[in-house]
Amino acid sequence: MDNLVNKMSLYMDAGFPIIYIETFEEDKVKQIVQEASGNREILEWNVRGLFYNKTDEKREGLSLIEALNNFADKDAMDNEKFAQRFNLERRILLVKDAYELLDDPKVVAQLKFLSEEIVSGNLKDANIVIVSSQLKVPKNLEHYITTLPLDIMEVADIEDVIRNFCEEENISEPMEDFLKELAFAFKGLSEFEIKNILALAVTNDGVIDRADLVLVHEHKRQLVQKSGIMEMVQVKEKISDIGGLENLKKWLESKARVFKHIDRAKEFGVDVPKGVLIAGLPGCGKSLNAKAASSLFGVPLLRMDMGRLMGKYVGESESNMRRAIQLVEAISPCVLWIDELEKAFAGISSGGGGSEVTTRLFGIFLTWMQEKEGMAFVVATANNISHLPPELLRKGRFDEIFYVGLPTPMERAKIFQIHIKKRKQPVDSIDIQMLVKETEGYSGADIEGVVKEAVEQAFVEQLSNIKPSPITTKHILMAIKNTASLSKIMKEEIETMSKEYSDRHFKNASY
Ligand code: ATP
Repeated sequence: MDNLVNKMSLYMDAGFPIIYIETFEEDKVKQIVQEASGNREILEWNVRGLFYNKTDEKREGLSLIEALNNFADKDAMDNEKFAQRFNLERRILLVKDAYELLDDPKVVAQLKFLSEEIVSGNLKDANIVIVSSQLKVPKNLEHYITTLPLDIMEVADIEDVIRNFCEEENISEPMEDFLKELAFAFKGLSEFEIKNILALAVTNDGVIDRADLVLVHEHKRQLVQKSGIMEMVQVKEKISDIGGLENLKKWLESKARVFKHIDRAKEFGVDVPKGVLIAGLPGCGKSLNAKAASSLFGVPLLRMDMGRLMGKYVGESESNMRRAIQLVEAISPCVLWIDELEKAFAGISSGGGGSEVTTRLFGIFLTWMQEKEGMAFVVATANNISHLPPELLRKGRFDEIFYVGLPTPMERAKIFQIHIKKRKQPVDSIDIQMLVKETEGYSGADIEGVVKEAVEQAFVEQLSNIKPSPITTKHILMAIKNTASLSKIMKEEIETMSKEYSDRHFKNASY
């Protein structure tokens, strides 16, 4: 918190007219503004009116635009309604509940006018602080608003919150080990949320114990749903559902071991696993690996969709990205899956037309990847890496970059077996080698499609039989004939991509 007080007073001293703090911890912000304000007075506007903290005076029912008009119009001070001289000079205006009102052009225009007055020195030592749980920067205020994110609480601070809560509620403090575990689980949540969960835990059975961790996890799950910017994917896929890709599977298994014994690993000098980029042809198992990684690591899978992060207001996309990262940190340990990475970041810095917003999003993401020490393992997947910015492919961002190509004959055999078994059909009676021979250039998804079609065909053919016989090699061969392979459909792209992967010396996922 000291950090934020320092930053805030620095901005205030430097005459930044509007400081926007994105949080729903309004009380905390008020405290920070008070500490950062020197001995200046604070006026607060909220949905109930305008309040002058020092003398407890208030103008109930005053709308934001009325309040701003008053500050902007010097003559208004002599007006009856404002006989008490609500002047902004040497004062700070704290604005709450303004999110919707920032769509009102009159409010925006008056905030702009006041900002200009502050910047030009006509209005001395004044600042406006807006606090809201969501960021909205109207285009006309872009030059006047400075955003300040609220710091994420450290584990030690969370421990203090828990201790204080227990003292206030007169209940016994959790044992030292559990206190640490609980504080770690709370990481990423706000003080307000932590206190709410603790209150719920105490209401349940009068104590705070290990069973209450469920409440924390449930709260985090809900946070993801509510955020609207990410999705928590239900995972059924296991590593044994992947045919082939042995090199990648072995690598993931090793990282999972480190992840599961992270304390011992760190003590030994091992880095916390950061993540992996899996690039390659469509339908060859990239998404499957992301899902299987989450089962292997034994943690939830969060999916980030760049399209959802894009907002329509200035700074909204960046704010969404920061919220998403905070959320990921809050949910961690987890696997963060970023699908179609090339769609999000293609073209940046290679002159390919990446917009300013995407470039800024990319910057935030890169810094996070670089500095990240938390337990969020990133699995990014991409079809085409040729337009991805080179910074992303540099060592240090991802622990490793793998490429998946078309499955080898041995891999095709395994993929056939997996999908035949998955559809409850016997494998032993099928001539797998013959199928392998006939499916040169087929992707894993093609093979899955072939098996699916064959099983359906066998069923339809024998509808009149009370107990239909299982599928035969012939059924599958027929389905193969009806399916154009990926290598036929994407011949040129596959050649270009394969060359690019080998030129860049990416690791082959298969061997
Ligand atoms: P895209 O880039 O089009 O999203 P992808 O590489 O992510 O493709 P997946 O979604 O992982 O492809 O694969 C599609 C389906 O194909 C999977 O659900 C899976 O059933 C099957 N499949 C692909 N590769 C394999 C494999 N190696 N082993 C088993 N099944 C596979």
